Amino acid sequence: AEPSPESILSQLQEADVKFLRLQFTDILGNTKNVEVPKSQFQKALNGDVTFDGSAVEGFTRVEESDMLLSPDLRTFLIYPLFSRDQPADGHERGRVARLICNVTLPDGSPFGGDPRYVLQRQIDRARELGFEMFVGTEPEFFLFERTENGGGTTITHDKAGYFDLAPIDKGERIRREIANKLVDMGFEIEASHHEVAPGQHEIDFRYAPALETADRIATFKFVVKRVAMEYGLLASFLPKPIADVHGSGMHCHLSLFKNGHNAFDDPAGEHGLSATAHHFIAGLLDHAEGLTAITNPLVNSYKRLVPGYEAPVNIAWSTSNRSALIRIPAKRGHSTRAELRSPDPSCNPYLALAAMLAAGLDGLGQKLEPAPAIQRNIFKMTVREKRHHRVKELPGDLREAVNELQKDEVLAAALGEHVLDHYVEAKTAEWREYNQTIHAWELDKYLDLI
Ligand code: GLN
Ligand code: MG
Ligand code: MG
Ligand code: MG
Repeated sequence: AEPSPESILSQLQEADVKFLRLQFTDILGNTKNVEVPKSQFQKALNGDVTFDGSAVEGFTRVEESDMLLSPDLRTFLIYPLFSRDQPADGHERGRVARLICNVTLPDGSPFGGDPRYVLQRQIDRARELGFEMFVGTEPEFFLFERTENGGGTTITHDKAGYFDLAPIDKGERIRREIANKLVDMGFEIEASHHEVAPGQHEIDFRYAPALETADRIATFKFVVKRVAMEYGLLASFLPKPIADVHGSGMHCHLSLFKNGHNAFDDPAGEHGLSATAHHFIAGLLDHAEGLTAITNPLVNSYKRLVPGYEAPVNIAWSTSNRSALIRIPAKRGHSTRAELRSPDPSCNPYLALAAMLAAGLDGLGQKLEPAPAIQRNIFKMTVREKRHHRVKELPGDLREAVNELQKDEVLAAALGEHVLDHYVEAKTAEWREYNQTIHAWELDKYLDLI
């Protein structure tokens, strides 16, 4: 249930909160905030705080520059104290709370460039059909050493591997502290472990309705970075910071619920999956190419999507092996779900979940059937076998992915004109800049030789 502005105001007073952060997300997925002092709390809770949207990446439309932050009161939380908040004299500087906001135009109507609104629209479409999408994620990240001046490096803070224990796994203390902070902020942590690569970690939190999960991903990234900073380390969600080890993914476990029941589950269906699940999976596969531009938004994202590091390359689904884009984990009943393995943690969580839901709903609307599930390791198939099984590949780079997105009318409609235009423009510029840079690799490879 949504708390009232009055109850939040009294919580703010009781905890002696000094500042309230009004957070929102830009089109590229960066969390932004306007912080207001005590005197403005009432105004903030009423949704009367304005800001100049023309300064925000992807919001730029001069005629719409005055925007309002309309808080979603369900997202209220008081930040736990981080040790740097407590100065050496022990005198507390005062608590900070936050509210995640929807961005609206001065007349109160939703702003088309607000990613949270893009996701809300798809959630509403699903609701009209009686469905609610739940999402669980597995965000991975690296912890790196910093230089003496505080700059970033790609020197990992440990040399441990998958599920290793302390003391080899020096991340244990930091992971526990991250987990504790998240619990203080209302997260339910399900697992926390060292990942395959040195310095790589994963912390999983409980699945929730799509909007809540998108909000949590944003909060999660902030907390991980903040705690790492206190340990003098750099936490990075860059998908592939080191070439010859595993990259960082953010697998997304998707399920639809209807009237409190898992709508993907059907003991009588093929693989124990309902027709709804088959259609939804078919929709994801059908839109996989354009979807990748949203779930894997960086030039660097495509260096993760290569064979050999448990990241997907092929557009296929499987109930048994992890080489496919979509895996159906073994559990059925309430836990029946599809795991999409392509997303990486650099994506805008609101746009990514909106695009996944739109793809799945299109599969449902058209009653699409997926090609048969592939149970073999696709990485071991020959080109002919892949053609025989109708297995296509994900886009190989950002430019290809953005081209696919532009061709995909379903995803374009889901994003809406404002977001699509700005996204494509930003990503095209990013690709051009990358492409026009002379990289160290080229000089190493060619300079002497040619
Ligand atoms: N890091 C792998 C990826 O890029 C996943 C590894 C795992 O969780 N099994 O997706
Ligand atoms: Mg995992
Ligand atoms: Mg993992
Ligand atoms: Mg997984």
